Amino acid sequence: MSNQQIRNIAIIAHVDHGKTTLVDQLLRQSGTFRENEKVTERVMDSNDIERERGITILAKNCAVSWKGTHINIVDTPGHADFGGEVERALSMVDGVVLLIDAVEGPMPQTRFVTKKALALGLKPIVVVNKVDRPGSRPDYVINAAFDLFDKLGATDEQLDFPVVYASGLNGWATLKEGTPGEKWGEDLAPLFDTVLQHVPAHAGDVAAPLQLQISSMDYSTYLGRIGVGRINEGTLKCPMDVVMMAGPDATPVKCRINNVMTFEGLERHQLQPGEEAYPGHIVLVSGIEDIALGVTITDPLNPKPLPMLKVDEPTLTMN
Ligand code: GDP
Repeated sequence: MSNQQIRNIAIIAHVDHGKTTLVDQLLRQSGTFRENEKVTERVMDSNDIERERGITILAKNCAVSWKGTHINIVDTPGHADFGGEVERALSMVDGVVLLIDAVEGPMPQTRFVTKKALALGLKPIVVVNKVDRPGSRPDYVINAAFDLFDKLGATDEQLDFPVVYASGLNGWATLKEGTPGEKWGEDLAPLFDTVLQHVPAHAGDVAAPLQLQISSMDYSTYLGRIGVGRINEGTLKCPMDVVMMAGPDATPVKCRINNVMTFEGLERHQLQPGEEAYPGHIVLVSGIEDIALGVTITDPLNPKPLPMLKVDEPTLTMN
């Protein structure tokens, strides 16, 4: 897999604007679920706390495949920031999909994440979702999104956003507004294609020293602490001797990665001996006991630490 065949996106949405439903459909239509696999639960809501509160708290990722391109979907909480979690999640992506309800339009909760995405220089794709709903008003929604971006200081390039109309519930999207009441699209292909076209592939040098920043944390009883991050530069193998650095002035700590995984649908694919992960790949690494948010995993001979990522208290690091 080269870095040209990867896209990393975050889907930003106000609660109830349809993120979970849309991600379910993206997974289904990319052939991620086997035919006999019954999806009884909605995928991005698997955490108990979330189910209780009906909101997404912990950043979780999944990946879909479209026309040979691996698309990592990084989840972001839309409602509030927990210890800089939104910024860390956004630091792994090269584009965002902003999902807006076709009746409601942009809501205050969306504004918060959009502001951070724009500040990071990400160019959003606007998806006007639920266009099947009676009272759907896509023109109003697009204008409102434009005004919001403008108020938040968007650049001309960010204001020139692509628009996709969608009904996540019915599993279709289209680039143009059709006649209300008619089915506007066949499937989500126009959305997948827009992502491939408008989200840049991460540009990084495979031959450079490894540079991998840990943007979120996971935990498994078998593997212990797991760091999640996007490879910025270099090539990751497994096992691999590396150093961990808490910023440019920190002392390098020697350690060894003994397990690397990538996201495949809702599953995780374990990197086999001989397999490599490249710039742009979002990976899960384990074997480093003290791995922590914001650190850089880098080359022992030629360490290239990045500045630590912002981590505020309280921080939800494990689930
Ligand atoms: P989330 O909070 O953003 O993850 O939103 P959900 O995916 O849970 O959707 C919230 C509600 O909107 C649910 O009742 C969905 O069935 C409904 N919904 C989601 N997508 C669509 C859509 O495209 N059209 C319509 N009419 N309803 C939708």
